[in-house]
Amino acid sequence: DDAGVPGRVRVAVRLRPRNAEESVADADFADCVELQPELKRLKLRRNNWDSDTYEFDEVLTEFASQKRVYEVVAKPVVESVLDGYNGTVMAYGQTGTGKTYTLGRLGEEDTAARGIMVRALEDIFAEISPDIDSVSVSYLQLYMETIQDLLDPTNDNISIMEDPKTGDVSLPGATLVEIRNQQSFLELLRLGEAHRFAANTKLNTESSRSHAILMVHVKRSVKGSDSALSSENGNTSHMVKTLKPPVVRKAKLVVVDLAGSERIDKSGSEGHTLEEAKSINLSLSALGKCINALAENSAHVPVRDSKLTRLLRDSFGGTARTSLVVTIGPSPRHRGETTSTIMFGQRAM
Ligand code: ADP
Ligand code: MG
Repeated sequence: DDAGVPGRVRVAVRLRPRNAEESVADADFADCVELQPELKRLKLRRNNWDSDTYEFDEVLTEFASQKRVYEVVAKPVVESVLDGYNGTVMAYGQTGTGKTYTLGRLGEEDTAARGIMVRALEDIFAEISPDIDSVSVSYLQLYMETIQDLLDPTNDNISIMEDPKTGDVSLPGATLVEIRNQQSFLELLRLGEAHRFAANTKLNTESSRSHAILMVHVKRSVKGSDSALSSENGNTSHMVKTLKPPVVRKAKLVVVDLAGSERIDKSGSEGHTLEEAKSINLSLSALGKCINALAENSAHVPVRDSKLTRLLRDSFGGTARTSLVVTIGPSPRHRGETTSTIMFGQRAM
């Protein structure tokens, strides 16, 4: 199993169940996909007789629990962040297929419903030592190539800085809040959601047209172990206790709830729809190109083509771990969109 192998994107597909409307309206029609989770295969119906088969790193059916989805999609990435390597978890798919359900559910009434963001922070808090380590969070929206701070709505044009030597990416203008427990994290997520809703209402757009980006910075002090002994001449009676200085390990977990991958109808009523469509296409296709380059082990990963990929530059490829979950719905009506989502996932592998 190559879970969490750096430089390679791990791709899972997740099918959501039919919703009430689809159960009624499409009652006489078969789902457009058939999953074979034990074989990690998905069959996409071409017509009544033929289907095409695709393999994924993981195939998650409509019965997969949130816990299992976390374990398969995000846990290896979170573990490597705790070990000091940057990592990214992304959800890609048509609006309404479960990206936010998978990543962003708070599960306040029902803890089993908690999504990847909440479970990731739970694992991080369980692992670190609160007195010497720190966890800080930024929460952003990327809309029409502009980065907005979801923790401070007055901050609506954040720029990306790249360290020319290390390639490290930072957002000097973004609010970074140190949090000490899960409660404050949930509060930040709620605040961010409220600001996102307000900003999108003001811009007369929908959250499905922008990317939501959570950045979690984990800084750990690896204490010099006092059991480290050095002996001279192999004589244990002369062993000297040496206290090594603490080493600081920093890493960043980025969770991206991507804009809906559907083609936006160009005859849409809102004036900015075409501009939005172009901008979403730009960032998602730039992301696709970068992921393909990683899959092909290409020396050149074209990160410069969009803000999204510039932002992710130090969080995928190299020593970073990347996990992509592509979300699909079962309805035969969306076979076209489902097909293009599956192809996006396939090209990443
Ligand atoms: P997206 O963020 O991709 O637009 P959402 O996460 O908002 O989609 O999901 C759309 C609807 O489908 C929501 O009502 C959500 O609760 C429901 N849904 C999504 N995935 C699942 C799932 N795996 N199981 C049950 N309901 C789901
Ligand atoms: Mg969503």
